[in-house]
Amino acid sequence: MTSLVIKTTKIFTFDSAHFLPNHAGKCATMHGHTYKLEVTVTRDNGKLISGGSDEGMVMDFSDLKAIVTTEVIDKIDHKILNEVFPFRTTAENMSVHIFDVLTDKLQSRGVIVEKIKLWETPNSYVEVVHE
Ligand SMILES: [Zn+2]
Repeated sequence: MTSLVIKTTKIFTFDSAHFLPNHAGKCATMHGHTYKLEVTVTRDNGKLISGGSDEGMVMDFSDLKAIVTTEVIDKIDHKILNEVFPFRTTAENMSVHIFDVLTDKLQSRGVIVEKIKLWETPNSYVEVVHE
């Protein structure tokens, strides 16, 4: 019997400004990115929902979209990230933060955040993966 892992992903984009104080490169001065965020989830029992409106799903796409929009995107889209976060606004730190925020919101629904993939540019991304 083949064992499967079924994962659901929603993709978001947002535009933000930031700078990295004390960075040796050009990111030390204020600039912007169009970020792309990929949120991948699974169920904690490895199975799909059985029964009810979401039968056969990991999680309804629209529910995942609503939670990520409210908890993450609305707080950072068209914002200066340095004014939003107390930490240095690297893609790495932001990915860990997003992972933690969404884990808090989703675990009571039996949903695990499997992966956060944050694209800072079209050819640079960071991944945080659940172990
Ligand atoms: Zn930057």
